[in-house]
Amino acid sequence: MSAHILIVYTGGTIGSVEESETKSLRPLDFEQLRLQIPELDRISASLEVEALDPIDSSDMRPSHFVELAELLFERRESFDGFVVLHGTDTMAYTASALSFMLLDFGKPVVLTGSQLPIGVLRTDGKENFLTSVEIAAHRTVDPHTGEEFSTLQEVAVYFGDDLFRGNRTHKHSAEDFHAIGSANYPALAEVGVNLRFRHEALLRPKNLPSLATQLDPRVLVVHLTPGLGAEMLAHLLAAPGLRAVVLRTYGTGNAPSSSAFLDVISSAVTAGIVIVNVSQCSTGMVDPDLYATGRLLLAAGVIPARDMTIEAAVTKLMVLGGQHALPEALGAAFSEDLAGEQSTPGKLL
Ligand code: ASP
Repeated sequence: MSAHILIVYTGGTIGSVEESETKSLRPLDFEQLRLQIPELDRISASLEVEALDPIDSSDMRPSHFVELAELLFERRESFDGFVVLHGTDTMAYTASALSFMLLDFGKPVVLTGSQLPIGVLRTDGKENFLTSVEIAAHRTVDPHTGEEFSTLQEVAVYFGDDLFRGNRTHKHSAEDFHAIGSANYPALAEVGVNLRFRHEALLRPKNLPSLATQLDPRVLVVHLTPGLGAEMLAHLLAAPGLRAVVLRTYGTGNAPSSSAFLDVISSAVTAGIVIVNVSQCSTGMVDPDLYATGRLLLAAGVIPARDMTIEAAVTKLMVLGGQHALPEALGAAFSEDLAGEQSTPGKLL
């Protein structure tokens, strides 16, 4: 029996055309995109489409995450897998948010898009789209029980021959076809002539699927630079209503050691702001014990985010912020691995 796949179209370059006057790209309706891919008729899966109001993904808001998560959760029982067509700019944020909002989803959710519009001769959109459908439809048979199940059971991103866990992704190139990377977690499959999944890298649900739709967007990212002094930091952390901060530190999680700087941080923590430590380095892990400066941040109450991406840390704080009113509870929940978004120290896969 062929797999039943839902395509969710949100916009992005894949479905864009050039406006004749300005030459800027603007996303089109799904029907116009569909006409550019006659190959879809030859796919063995049965496809249905749900087209949302198409947007450039730089317009994505937490309310869009909620719309998407609700749609996927409602349709979970009716489909074998899902492909979400999405702009590349914020794809890693949406993929991360969905992974935390749809815990233990247990079915494939593959986000994809393209660097060139689907109507352009050299487009990467067709391959990305068609292979994503194939991945979402892929099934594995248990050799012992004969039971058949979806091979992928988590939120992932397929882009430029790479399949990655969604909450490990980051857009690292504005022009390469290999635009999306996963610096701290390996690819979930080798995609070449054959599609070979790395079964040991795949996430498996531990509980029944759940849906979280209360997000708290009051999360700020503060990127340390040598010129950022205590006074300016204090202004940033005094933003009205601020709940949580992702502090982008140096190396293994280090920051200035002056007491003025650390006092600002510990006062913010005491005032109930949750601050987490994400390194500016894309590979490796925050290890607060390695340097005295990192240890000082820990003592000031900053929570190490290990090897989480910025996108995962921001969206995890938003999702958990909607569930935990108290900063202690939010901080404790943040430290737990929810959907394979962080590695265990000394156990990088
Ligand atoms: N600006 C576009 C978007 O994110 C870029 C893309 O899709 O590649 O919607």
